[in-house]
Amino acid sequence: MSIKIDDNSKITLDLKKQKLKGDSFVVGDETQGIFVELPQEAIYIVDLCDGTRTIKEIQSILEMEMKEVYDVKDFISDLYEVNLVYKINDHIIVERSGTRHFRFTKFIAHLLFAPRMYFVYSIIIFINIYMMFYIKGNLPDYRSVEIIDEHSGLSLVCFTFIGIVVTVFHEIGHYLSAVELQIPVKIKLSLRLFYLVVETDINSIWGIERNKRYICYLAGFYIENIILLLTFFIKKLNAIGNLGCHICDAIILTVFLNFVWQLMIFLRTDFYFIILNYLNIPALHFSAMQSISSAGKGIKEKIDKKEVIYLIIYFVGVIASIFYLFNEFLIYVNLFLISINDLEISFDDVCFGGLMFLHIVLWGKGAYNKYIDYRMEHNAER
Ligand SMILES: [Zn+2]
Repeated sequence: MSIKIDDNSKITLDLKKQKLKGDSFVVGDETQGIFVELPQEAIYIVDLCDGTRTIKEIQSILEMEMKEVYDVKDFISDLYEVNLVYKINDHIIVERSGTRHFRFTKFIAHLLFAPRMYFVYSIIIFINIYMMFYIKGNLPDYRSVEIIDEHSGLSLVCFTFIGIVVTVFHEIGHYLSAVELQIPVKIKLSLRLFYLVVETDINSIWGIERNKRYICYLAGFYIENIILLLTFFIKKLNAIGNLGCHICDAIILTVFLNFVWQLMIFLRTDFYFIILNYLNIPALHFSAMQSISSAGKGIKEKIDKKEVIYLIIYFVGVIASIFYLFNEFLIYVNLFLISINDLEISFDDVCFGGLMFLHIVLWGKGAYNKYIDYRMEHNAER
């Protein structure tokens, strides 16, 4: 149902606002996870749209109080198009029901992601670093992918399964942290550049205070650290046997590669958002890349300090991605060599071929999603 907006419409916006650096604000509806960046002047209009005044009245208030006059009706129509108008003349346009969670979910969320947990996770990370680098046999190794001796197919099945389980727990981490902060979340599959990413959409995070956002971005990484710590301890048990030990090594490799992955901030990983949040800006990649290209063309432009920080971390990400790809390469070559070891085609080789095919299909699906995303962002920019 589409309702016409005219000069006599009374608009209710009822949007959440967060100040960014400078004069701009992030404004939006956290129940839908839709946010836009607006200048200070627009915020004044947003505040006036509380359902008591008509558009004409708001327009005349602006004309009395401001030098530069905005077209209120146009502005409201734009917000309407992106689903940010709550009511027009008491007609609800977009239902905003808050998300409800089970008490048990809330309990677990609070247990894992209450603010005091930062300290606990710092200790866990510290112990993990120690266990990984100072205890013999715990260093991640690409050969750990051979979970079942001399079986590349079954090994890849197990390794993929471990990857999925770790990712699911990682996303559950984001999800629970969002529950703790009482914001809505979605989980989606997409591709950044040419890597497949399963990600939790926490766009609604813009509706909460900046300092509280960190836990949400870090939650996945924290959960993986819990997994890693448990794995180190389980590996120490004698009862788990050879296979158990191999599975533990594969988990260590998976968590380690996920960490390297996080460093690739140009793929908009969780770490990318932590940096954005720290620098208090909604998007940085584009402006930083523009500075580089204008510097490359010999145009002297003052590069923002924030952009410099971003570019340094970006560079670390590039190195991380080379390292990551190299590891992936070793993993698959290693499995391939195992599979061609005997000349007969066995069930195991079929498994290996099938899984490689499945990986390619998943990448294709992710690439398609990414393409749609890109198209939408590109259109929005124009
Ligand atoms: Zn994550």
